[in-house]
Amino acid sequence: MTRANGSSGEGGVPFVHPEPARALYIHLPFCRARCAFCDFPVVAGKTEHLHGPYVDALLRELELLFSYFPPDPSHPLRTLYVGGGTPSFLARAEWERLAAGIERVLPGGIASLEEWTVELNPEDADPELLRMLRAFGVTRVSIGVQSFDDALLAALGRVHDAARAVHAVELAADLGFPHVSVDLMYGLPSQTVSAWLRDVERALELPVDHVSAYALGVEPGTRLFGELRRGRIALPEDDAVAEMYERFVERAAARGFRRYEVSNFARPGGESRHNLAYWRYEPYYAVGLGAHGFLRGIRTANTRHLQTYLRRLVPGPRADLPWAEVRALSRAEAMGEFAFLGFRLAEGVDLARFRRLFGVSFFDVFALTFDRLFAAGILTVDGGRAYVRERWVYVQNSFLSEFLLA
Ligand code: SF4
Repeated sequence: MTRANGSSGEGGVPFVHPEPARALYIHLPFCRARCAFCDFPVVAGKTEHLHGPYVDALLRELELLFSYFPPDPSHPLRTLYVGGGTPSFLARAEWERLAAGIERVLPGGIASLEEWTVELNPEDADPELLRMLRAFGVTRVSIGVQSFDDALLAALGRVHDAARAVHAVELAADLGFPHVSVDLMYGLPSQTVSAWLRDVERALELPVDHVSAYALGVEPGTRLFGELRRGRIALPEDDAVAEMYERFVERAAARGFRRYEVSNFARPGGESRHNLAYWRYEPYYAVGLGAHGFLRGIRTANTRHLQTYLRRLVPGPRADLPWAEVRALSRAEAMGEFAFLGFRLAEGVDLARFRRLFGVSFFDVFALTFDRLFAAGILTVDGGRAYVRERWVYVQNSFLSEFLLA
């Protein structure tokens, strides 16, 4: 059967997302030092004097955002994710003001949230900080471990060592956080498959219910990029990196961690509800330096420049949202994104939801692309959902980008 993709002619039609946003991302950009691989919107070094003005600006932005895009009172926010940067580096007094501000601004308050995640760097894990976060209502900590190899951690410019990482995880579990996650990285300079698997085993035997594993990406402008170009470091071959991923999936499964997204693994109930909202194409609020939001079909990106951010949010009537980019998606773009993100999930693309959001059948829109990938054995359909078959998950981006162009 030969069918054409049906999205032609949709290019200029705007997409208005009909669902209320129920997720909020808050970005805290401060770090002690910039890691060798990092190109996030980060302000590194001695920044303590900026924490107070930044929290003020953040809360002002949140109020402004909620005044322009009011939360739906009958659908309160479900998840809050505070990421960075290094949220755990924020001065304690500023954390108290931030939590009080969130409580004041959030309809229904913090108690109405089902999940509140805070990212934590191992060097910050002390009982006082963790008890304070728990008392605020934080339910989940995501700990940036990256590796248990001290030499590799030093090469990446991380401040902590393996012992601190283990201590941080055990402390968070002991202090009663219902969910503890660790981030790991693979494909690191000179890393072997067996060294990676030692990291994996160490992570999986800790009291965590979630592990994220990301392949190192060397971005232009980072210290690692320069070192690679000058030949000072060498990265593992692509085949070795692919093997690291496959072996990790096996080890994680053997320990009861299910891959629910390409790079994310959880014990039952340990999935990040907040991150699921991104992949399920739900709208979300986002505030803070460089933060990206998605509301009513509009994607926004805040400025990455701290002084501009603070200036735009001066107290008084001149305060305005610190958007640097605003892009209203067309229906064709939105349908492509829905497919691209949904295929990252083990639960796959929800075909009935596609029809609810866009008013057409997924197969009418993506006939050509879907038929070809189905015939090649890459995609399959079952129970009202379309999936990527297991053996294609690692390389899926190379062909799923076709949905974005369809
Ligand atoms: S701690 Fe995280 S955000 Fe900060 S520089 Fe390192 S990788 Fe980037």
